[in-house]
Amino acid sequence: MGLLRDFFIALSHNKTLERFLTSTRLGRKISRRFVAGETLDELVEVVRRLKEEGIYTTVAFLGEHYKAKEPALRSVEEYLRLADALAPFREYSEISLKLTQLGLEIDRDFTYENLKRIAEKAKSVGLYVNVDTEESRLLDDTLWIVKRMNDEGYPVGTVIQAYLYRAREILDELSRYRINLRLVKGAYKEPPDVAFQDKRKVDENFKSLAVEMLRRTDRIYPEFATHDERIISFIMRKAEELGVPKDKYEFQMLYGVRLGLQRKVKRTHRLRLYVPYGSHWYPYFMRRLAERPANVWFVLRGLFG
Ligand SMILES: Cc1cc2nc3c(=O)[nH]c(=O)nc-3n(C[C@H](O)[C@H](O)[C@H](O)COP(=O)(O)OP(=O)(O)OC[C@H]3O[C@@H](n4cnc5c(N)ncnc54)[C@H](O)[C@@H]3O)c2cc1C
Repeated sequence: MGLLRDFFIALSHNKTLERFLTSTRLGRKISRRFVAGETLDELVEVVRRLKEEGIYTTVAFLGEHYKAKEPALRSVEEYLRLADALAPFREYSEISLKLTQLGLEIDRDFTYENLKRIAEKAKSVGLYVNVDTEESRLLDDTLWIVKRMNDEGYPVGTVIQAYLYRAREILDELSRYRINLRLVKGAYKEPPDVAFQDKRKVDENFKSLAVEMLRRTDRIYPEFATHDERIISFIMRKAEELGVPKDKYEFQMLYGVRLGLQRKVKRTHRLRLYVPYGSHWYPYFMRRLAERPANVWFVLRGLFG
């Protein structure tokens, strides 16, 4: 499984396959499994449908690792439009974004200014903004920007990756703020001096961080983002034991992943789906295959069926 995961993560950087898949109708059709659509209109339809089902959303405009300012600035403009489009759904929806989409690999201050424009707009229409975490080499700059945003009073949360040895230290650092914190296992390939390589250790760390977060709901709002049913049951039990009310935390999953489990969790708890849209869906899509290589069968069925 580890080898297949590495294989799909390597493929997520393959430009030839990206050009092929994103330029064909078939590729776009297959992407719909995990992606709401390529346009804002298609996205809004999905958000509306999910709201009718009682499902919350966090919406991401796809794009990452930009090495030039133009695409980063275009992403900012799209996020401003997205904020307007989501305003009527503010009780149910929020924004998710990646800082490499706003220029983190070009310049930290440029990225900060870009995020500030989005956060200002989001605040004015009553939406929360979540900053995804990416490769560990970008972590310090990401935390610097998130902390600065909170110091300046913008509603900006972020993500803690349980595979990082530093995860607990980051939780302690961010608990100083009234902040939304999403806990995930971690989606990137990280070296052994930075992250646990053994899946069981990642799971154990996830559970121990989750309990710690449940103990801090007077300050932070924990968002447990996983499709791991055993971990979800563990968190539900712990929350009950600790007397944490259900409106003080939530579960999150990815749009299109484990639909049966989504329905089950939604029956008793708040569930929010991470809903991506946009034409730059290829790396995101390949990471979903990396998480569960069996997903490749549905791709092959799409190609030959
Ligand atoms: C809302 C949300 C936001 C995220 N944001 C970030 C982020 O900012 N940074 C980051 O590094 N990572 C992020 N991730 C990804 C995360 O780190 C994991 O890579 C991903 O969630 C898979 O891990 P898991 O917790 O579901 O557990 P796993 O142990 O990988 O999976 C648990 C079960 O779910 C099934 N499953 C998992 N993924 C899939 C899939 N794609 N298709 C079908 N079945 C699947 C598995 O087969 C297994 O049965 C996010 C995940 C979610 C849900």
